[in-house]
Amino acid sequence: MNKNEIKLSNGMEMPRLGMGTWFLGEKKQKDDQETAALRAGIDAGIRLIDTAEMYGDGKSEQLIGRAIKGYDRSRLFLVSKVYPHNAGRRKIFKSVQQTLKNLQTDYLDLYLLHWRGAVPLEETVECMEQLVKEGKIRSWGVSNFDTDDMRELLSVPNGDHCVVDQVLYHLGLRGVEYDLLPWLEEHQIPLMAYCPLAQAGDLQKDLLKSSTVKEIAKIHNITPMQVLLAFVLYQPNVIAIPRSGKAEHVLQNWNARKIRLTDVEYGLLDKAFPAPKQKTYLDIV
Ligand code: NDP
Repeated sequence: MNKNEIKLSNGMEMPRLGMGTWFLGEKKQKDDQETAALRAGIDAGIRLIDTAEMYGDGKSEQLIGRAIKGYDRSRLFLVSKVYPHNAGRRKIFKSVQQTLKNLQTDYLDLYLLHWRGAVPLEETVECMEQLVKEGKIRSWGVSNFDTDDMRELLSVPNGDHCVVDQVLYHLGLRGVEYDLLPWLEEHQIPLMAYCPLAQAGDLQKDLLKSSTVKEIAKIHNITPMQVLLAFVLYQPNVIAIPRSGKAEHVLQNWNARKIRLTDVEYGLLDKAFPAPKQKTYLDIV
């Protein structure tokens, strides 16, 4: 990773490595451990936290709300997402209010449309713009948008104010490199990689068993999981949000920002897990 922050098209600086929180906050007995994991991350310098109203029906947001208590809010970069069926005039304002209450804060740094639904893009964009004006959110973006969706978004009034697209991207699933990533780069929109660890290899079993991944991990004295993170962060226009409910893993993931894969190492990973040579439609988890 060559830079710790990335400049968004509206001038804001966004950290390139943060913490995902899907499934966190859902089990009462894990509350202390997960709060400690998030706090360990913040203490180490992690500023970006990604969540969604969907995660545990607000429980993930509530866990974050408790974990960030006592920290300087202005140092954090909080991201949440609105369900597609809430992303219109009738419901979005209530949704954002609930998210802010859960997070115990009065603004979001970034608010994302979780995926495309039935509400027209024009309407969602209008609402997002209003939320920016009201100071409830500092910026907005989308998630799970493929290249055609992005083109359509940019054709609606103020659609070009979208600052990121959050999509599935890991070493074993590189379809975005064919057209979405270059398109986003051209439009100065970073790609936020979700499941950058392929859910600890669950999404693709051969990743962590790969001799190439293991060899590179050995050379750098790091874990295979850190190799996966270093791989996505090798691309300058990519932000990654690995999730862990364990402090030790959160810190390992954070240390991945210091790893510099050489071009030769990148080439070996590229050979072991090649990017498709034609358009593949965006996968979603
Ligand atoms: P990840 O690829 O981040 O993998 C998470 C898994 O990896 C967990 O099982 C975790 O277990 C394990 N893990 C994390 N760090 C380490 C480590 N250093 N060593 C060993 N195991 C590790 O999967 P997610 O699905 O959580 O994706 C990341 C985030 O992206 C989500 O949490 C969410 O915020 C976002 N997301 C967004 C989506 C969207 O539609 N916009 C869809 C899916 C995810 P452990 O807790 O034991 O460390």
